Amino acid sequence: MITLNSERGLVRIATWDDIESVPGFTADIDPKTVKLKEIIGSYTFDALIPCGLSTCHQPHGNGFLVVAADGRATNIGRICGKKHFDVEFTQMSRVFLAAVRAQQNREFLGELKNRLPGITTEVATIRTERHGAAWINTRVSQLTGKSTALPTPLINAVRQAVRRGDGILIIERAATKQEREE
Ligand SMILES: [Zn+2]
Repeated sequence: MITLNSERGLVRIATWDDIESVPGFTADIDPKTVKLKEIIGSYTFDALIPCGLSTCHQPHGNGFLVVAADGRATNIGRICGKKHFDVEFTQMSRVFLAAVRAQQNREFLGELKNRLPGITTEVATIRTERHGAAWINTRVSQLTGKSTALPTPLINAVRQAVRRGDGILIIERAATKQEREE
């Protein structure tokens, strides 16, 4: 996978062939005669790709796509980049990675924003559907005595059951004469 930071934003490319068609791409650049302009991409592949520096050409699994001041582009590994272009390369990779992160954040926020109407609808459904949250809330208010729809002994029994957490409703009443005698 290749992540390209272009004017169009972040572009993800699946194959290396697409990179070879990038304008100015060359698989051979002499680090001594070239001045780096910027890092435009990073890549990770299972297949190893030879480093674009003429002094190296070692196969790398991952690295950066760089553009030179003269418009040529090539791929180099991180270690090669640091070795040949020093602090400048480190700085450029920082700028590139920050741009990628910023773009990823924008994409994430965009997706989230797209999902919001759906989530709002879902919440409204949960609240208003048959036996939904609004319905439950009204029943709870009645059972716990926040509204006066039920007789006080029943409300008290519910409150005690809630306190005990066992769901058993106990309603006290005076024993009948027969019960007392037994
Ligand atoms: Zn190299």
